[in-house]
Amino acid sequence: MWIDSHCHLDSPEFDVDRDEVVAASRAAGVEAIVNLPGHVDHFARALASRERYGCLTGFGIHPMWVAGPSAQSPRDHIAILRSWVEREKPDLIGEIGLDFYISDVNQSEQEWFFSEQLKVAREFDLPVSLHVRRSQDVILKHLRRIRVRSGFAHAFNGSSQQAMEFVRLGFCLGFGGTATFPQARRIRSLLRDVPLSSVVLETDAPDLPPSFLGAMSSTRRNSPEYLPAIGELLARERGELPAAFAAATTSNVRRVLGAD
Ligand SMILES: [Zn+2]
Repeated sequence: MWIDSHCHLDSPEFDVDRDEVVAASRAAGVEAIVNLPGHVDHFARALASRERYGCLTGFGIHPMWVAGPSAQSPRDHIAILRSWVEREKPDLIGEIGLDFYISDVNQSEQEWFFSEQLKVAREFDLPVSLHVRRSQDVILKHLRRIRVRSGFAHAFNGSSQQAMEFVRLGFCLGFGGTATFPQARRIRSLLRDVPLSSVVLETDAPDLPPSFLGAMSSTRRNSPEYLPAIGELLARERGELPAAFAAATTSNVRRVLGAD
């Protein structure tokens, strides 16, 4: 059985067939989905998905809502986040992080939101799911300053040195659709080098479609039901048996979430 450690199941892309997607995921061998809303207005929907589908659930304010063209998170949203965490006891804080690739990057505001959310994670002793885009070293700086129990560095795309630093701080690295493309050489070599105890699998659905969705995959919807097929490809890349790879990555997610 597999776990999708990073998914946006409440995205409008799934509005037409969310029940079917979850049923297909279960049938394909996905035992749990970690569902991560990125804005305080989406937390109620995530609770409904927790209720209906048994999702593991995070609360967090995604950097895309903090800076860039769709910034819609004023600073008082941190207090709102905190009260949701206190009341509803999520499994983790996320998706949070820093994105230095977007336009109007507003780095100082992103760093403020990131460090405030790390403090919430530390206060409630929760792991975090990190969005790390062209920001590895700054993220690491904050993680050294505000120690959280553990977490996932989602869709990891840094150097092997940075990868090992995340591992040293107790993080697992998330691999998914991007690593299924043969031309993604750097990510695939990281996938081979990272210790198995620090690898988790993810879809980031509806984003980051895997190679097998075809040449038009950039316009195709990714889905948690593809996680086992992604996992089999990545197991092959590491030279592992799919069943053993599934068991190891699943237990890594459960260990990070304190749910094993
Ligand atoms: Zn995401």
